[in-house]
Amino acid sequence: MSGLGKGITTSSIGRLLISKGFKVSAMKIDPYINIDAGTMRPTEHGEVFVTQDGGEVDQDLGNYERFLHKNLSKEHNLTTGKVYKTIIEKERRGDFLGKTVQIIPHLTDEIQKKIIERGKNEEILLIEIGGTVGDYENIPFLEAARQMRLKLGKDKVIFIHISFIPVPNFLGEAKTKPTQHSVKALQEVGIQPDFIVCRSKKPVDSVRKKKLALFCNIKEKRVISNPDLEIIYELPLVLEEQGFGDMLLKLMNLKPREDKLDYWRKVVEKMKNKGKEVRIGIIGKYLNTGDWQLSDSYVSVREAVKHACAELGVQDNIEWINSEMFEKDKNLMRILDYLDCVIIPGGFGKTGAEGKIKAIQYCREKNKPFLGICYGLQLAVVEYARNVCGLKNANSTEINPRTHYNVIDILSEQKQIIEKGGTMRLGTYPAVLKKGTLVRELYEKFGRMKEGIAQERHRHRYEVNPKYHELLQEKGLVISGVSPNGRLVEFIEIPGHNFFVATQAHPEFTSWPGKPNPLFYGLIKAGIR
Ligand code: GLN
Repeated sequence: MSGLGKGITTSSIGRLLISKGFKVSAMKIDPYINIDAGTMRPTEHGEVFVTQDGGEVDQDLGNYERFLHKNLSKEHNLTTGKVYKTIIEKERRGDFLGKTVQIIPHLTDEIQKKIIERGKNEEILLIEIGGTVGDYENIPFLEAARQMRLKLGKDKVIFIHISFIPVPNFLGEAKTKPTQHSVKALQEVGIQPDFIVCRSKKPVDSVRKKKLALFCNIKEKRVISNPDLEIIYELPLVLEEQGFGDMLLKLMNLKPREDKLDYWRKVVEKMKNKGKEVRIGIIGKYLNTGDWQLSDSYVSVREAVKHACAELGVQDNIEWINSEMFEKDKNLMRILDYLDCVIIPGGFGKTGAEGKIKAIQYCREKNKPFLGICYGLQLAVVEYARNVCGLKNANSTEINPRTHYNVIDILSEQKQIIEKGGTMRLGTYPAVLKKGTLVRELYEKFGRMKEGIAQERHRHRYEVNPKYHELLQEKGLVISGVSPNGRLVEFIEIPGHNFFVATQAHPEFTSWPGKPNPLFYGLIKAGIR
């Protein structure tokens, strides 16, 4: 089922194989009809991750990048929609020469073609098939996988089944039955898993391993435990202890070439090393679904915070705050007093925006370390325009299209576009960093500035209106980074403040364990102070 940690497992297997000396990449298959994750609400499908080349993709690609220390492309995320789109375009061009176009073989062939293309430059490609075995929408992908094994051989295609081992509260015992049944469902479509990875609270004991081995037609040692971990980055080490990496290689007729897992051990050690606690407030809106609160909508922000905290030897304590509460009751603002620093991450639309603006004002006036990300920068500019520049009711036209002072307005190149998917300013863009600024100092310190230029990933439609650049600067706001033509604001800061920095980009997408993003590092450092 989804949410099980298939992405973390895939990523961890990848890290394991990399540390054994292989060239590895990973791709995600999402069986939904959307072309990509760009138009999906984060509470529905988690964060929309942005690749270097401007893909709006499944959040698992973020996990892959963080574990593999590798930048992936939008082609590393395949959806049902994408495959159908290719097939339908081919059909309209007449490429099928009069044939009836069918799910088998045309769709399944196209899936295999796309997988092979991704694997071209790799030694091992991990392919994660999302969703649940037995779902209608999964079937063509599983069929493609079955065919690949048949065509390429069993030392070229390995099947790993990731399954949930529940421990019902009233029973207090781990149950293997759901896994027995999901393996049956797999066998029905012609797939016998080579490994079963069991997601559970605790490691799977030998009684249950034996049961699974017998009923699922698999050797006991190939039933792998994947227990809940406090630090997800530890999973490659947990898998290695069970000999998973070497068993996998053996099935592929390969031998480990080297052992570089020590590098990862050090990364994990750092993440585990708990110094004093830093309280970080993340003020957003994509937190509630029904009766549950989830932080998956901001998973990259959360991980970036953890990477920076590990680097500085402190323990992160993240408070998730729904900005709408500040609109209802201004006294709640005092919650911010208990925090060491505040992040306003990316966002869209009116909901909760005024609450965020209030929180930003509070941080600016009370000298509270603040990092604004994308929408966070735009709202910081709105706040500054209203309360420092005296532009009454200044706003973003995203919030109020008729505002008199449109300090944030739509990019001119965005004005014609009505289609919603893949039409924002997406992917990596350069920013020229201004000398003498804190932002420049931070990017330089981490070796992320080349010839005065930093690169970060973007996903936005609106920008700081160039008409107001001068006034904002006159009133003390420092524009610390701009697009090479000088038209787009990329970074801002307030000199003399403990830490007040915002960026139009998404720095959370370029933060890896052991390689934190400079802005998060700067924020946490100020928070510690
Ligand atoms: N809604 C804003 C825009 O479209 C900000 C987007 C974001 O935060 N990613 O420009």
